[in-house]
Amino acid sequence: MSEPAYKRILLKLSGEGLMGDGEYGISPRVIRRLASEIREVRALGVEVALVIGGGNIFRGAGLAAAGMDRVTADHMGMLATVMNALALQDALEYEGVFTRVMSAIKINQVCEDYIRRRAMRHLEKGRVVVFAAGTGNPFFTTDSAASLRAVEINADVVIKATKVDGVYSADPVKDPNAKRYSHLTYDQVLEQRLAVMDATAIVMCRDNNLPIRVFDMTRPGALLDLVCGASTGTLVERG
Ligand code: UDP
Repeated sequence: MSEPAYKRILLKLSGEGLMGDGEYGISPRVIRRLASEIREVRALGVEVALVIGGGNIFRGAGLAAAGMDRVTADHMGMLATVMNALALQDALEYEGVFTRVMSAIKINQVCEDYIRRRAMRHLEKGRVVVFAAGTGNPFFTTDSAASLRAVEINADVVIKATKVDGVYSADPVKDPNAKRYSHLTYDQVLEQRLAVMDATAIVMCRDNNLPIRVFDMTRPGALLDLVCGASTGTLVERG
């Protein structure tokens, strides 16, 4: 069995990544596959924390554009991430992976409150921890939550799951000449406004020297390869 390249990872999954071919909600097929891939990584002894988005259900900015108060809309977005986290926990436990959901907003009849020391303890005991409700604050994204939690729990890397195999100079679906970067600095991402994570999330990683790996989660086995040290996708780090 290969030696893992990381001891503790924070994997950021977008809500949209749970939809599969659908336009809304959670695909049982996709969530089962994700859970089985996370189980394989856990089986290597890697400590796994997850941050899950909510874009497959609600996005605050979209609701606000339709006329809703932005803060209320963001509260709905954060609650959407809790639903996704519970679905992920269910799928992981079906795979035999002990999992705890910890929410940044108090809903402690359905999951635990986020308490950093408790999260660290869960990870040390080999449990997968799913961080839900983003940062708990409106006007942020779950990408920023991923950077924040990764720094808080001393993760070795933020692994950002996307639908393409890394960061491109333009949208590769629309532009056939789009070039894929294998390596970028934080400042290149910020200056060129590359679609990796939002600027708040990138700055948080930059200021704490936390590498970001962007990879294609739709390719079966890609996560395991990456955790075993394959240089797939794009690495964002200090220059
Ligand atoms: N959100 C928020 N604060 C946070 C994280 C998320 O208000 O710290 C809300 C926001 O409305 C966002 C929604 O939750 O649109 C879902 O998160 P996100 O858009 O990041 O999900 P993803 O794009 O990863 O599916």
